[in-house]
Amino acid sequence: MGGKNVKNTIVERVLQIVAPHLCFGCGKIGAVLCHDCKYNIIDEPFWGCIVCGKPKREGVCTEHETSIEKTFVVSQRIGTLETLINGLKFHNNKAAAQACAELLHESLPILPSSATIVVVPTVRSHIRQRGYDHIDLIARQFAAMRGLPIRYLLRRATTDVQHLVGREERRTQADRAFELVETDDLSMGPILLIDDIITTAATVTAASKLLSQTGLPVWVAALAYQPLD
Ligand SMILES: [Zn+2]
Ligand SMILES: [Zn+2]
Repeated sequence: MGGKNVKNTIVERVLQIVAPHLCFGCGKIGAVLCHDCKYNIIDEPFWGCIVCGKPKREGVCTEHETSIEKTFVVSQRIGTLETLINGLKFHNNKAAAQACAELLHESLPILPSSATIVVVPTVRSHIRQRGYDHIDLIARQFAAMRGLPIRYLLRRATTDVQHLVGREERRTQADRAFELVETDDLSMGPILLIDDIITTAATVTAASKLLSQTGLPVWVAALAYQPLD
């Protein structure tokens, strides 16, 4: 990291401490996401199959081949939730991670105490651009809120960036995107795999397939669902 980058990072950190937070939803001073805006999101959960989007209370339609047993999605990627996620992913608003973790914490049911949190690994070039791994930030804060362990069982095997391709290519790319690592001493499960946005579920399907090799049930939690078109 060059001197200029270090200086910029310090300035950003100072601003994050000094500047008051404005709510991503309504602009009110105080929290990154005020109480009202938070519950407006939580009150509109996404209850659908994460592969095809059809209405479904829990999990994935039986006709899709998947190792995913249960799914939890906070809401659709619209309105305040979209602004919040964009803030974290594209506008360097690291503070938005805590609000995202709170959304997961307040949307998800009670989890077994034997559950282990696992994150979908972010593309390395994106971590470099942002200066942080946004999914990891969310997952770590969520794990702390729930008192659950977090394990890094997956690693990126390729550097493919996924968002420019269609459903079929996404599946092919996703199938070779990850590797399973360090699965020793896992508790009873389930494994709760955390991702930010689910579009075709190709990523979480491929990641779950690997994670299911541990013999543990795999559940998926995401902040938002966004259909491909
Ligand atoms: Zn608000
Ligand atoms: Zn479906």
